[in-house]
Amino acid sequence: MKLAILSRAPQAYSTQRLQSAALERGHTVRVLNTLRFAIDLAGEAPDLLYRGKQLSDYDAVLPRIGSSISYFGTAVVRQFEQMDVYTPNTSNGIANARDKLRANQILSRHNIEMPATAFVRNRADVRPAIESVGGAPVVIKLLEGTQGIGVILAPQVKVAEAIIETLHSTRQNVLIQRFVSESRGRDVRALVIGDRVVAAMRRTAGGDEFRSNVHRGGTVEPVQLDADYEQTAVRAAQIMGLRVAGVDMLEGEEGPLVMEVNSSPGLQGIESATGLDIAGAIIDFIANQVNFPEIDLRQR
Ligand code: ADP
Repeated sequence: MKLAILSRAPQAYSTQRLQSAALERGHTVRVLNTLRFAIDLAGEAPDLLYRGKQLSDYDAVLPRIGSSISYFGTAVVRQFEQMDVYTPNTSNGIANARDKLRANQILSRHNIEMPATAFVRNRADVRPAIESVGGAPVVIKLLEGTQGIGVILAPQVKVAEAIIETLHSTRQNVLIQRFVSESRGRDVRALVIGDRVVAAMRRTAGGDEFRSNVHRGGTVEPVQLDADYEQTAVRAAQIMGLRVAGVDMLEGEEGPLVMEVNSSPGLQGIESATGLDIAGAIIDFIANQVNFPEIDLRQR
């Protein structure tokens, strides 16, 4: 197949691994800078220009869209979809996953368990919202945060209120979330490809930190997930409309609590933790979809 990887980071570990996995399997592959596309809406058929020239035909596209360019990036992916180029992650799926609140709304509608979460804007509604998710300590999350930045654990209701009011005053949107203390600074990341979990790792926060992000000093180890964790991860990815996803779950008292579904999961941490060829599995999945397309039930 002829595959385009959309990425602004050709040298990044994940991009390199995906590119070499595709080459090893005899595919043609190009890494295209997402920001160098021009969406051409002038003609009759949907078109894309790349670096000012008509884009050649591709069988599939693998979007790796960073959160800073979600709007333009999802527009480019949508254009590929309109040109009938296969993508494992649709523009809608990526947009849904990018917005933490929208993702929570969609998942909770489909009975995926998540930490109790509230979203308010008026000062008068802050305290009741904190109480409704179980009171202090409480987690406050910036809707725009990544890599654990903008995730705060407030020890008391008064502190939480002050933080939330400050953030609101700077026009930031925040989620108020139950602190899942039984997870004890750990979470699990399940890498979903198609309808299965191909790899999973547990991240453990360092020292007195409650956030387990590797960027915050967390450590990783491979983990064999129980069936309920695997099923939850696969369902969450399916509901979001993603065929390649990293699903982050806290280990709650009654089982998995989904925190986030990532549409461009990094491969370095999970490949080094598990020793598995995840890049190869992603490429094989895409090639299989190109050769034997699934019937898309939503389009019936
Ligand atoms: P980001 O998308 O920035 O990584 P997350 O929402 O994944 O933000 O939170 C970062 C880390 O903080 C998680 O990996 C987890 O370890 C911890 N964490 C997040 N939410 C909760 C919560 N409600 N209860 C306990 N720990 C949490």
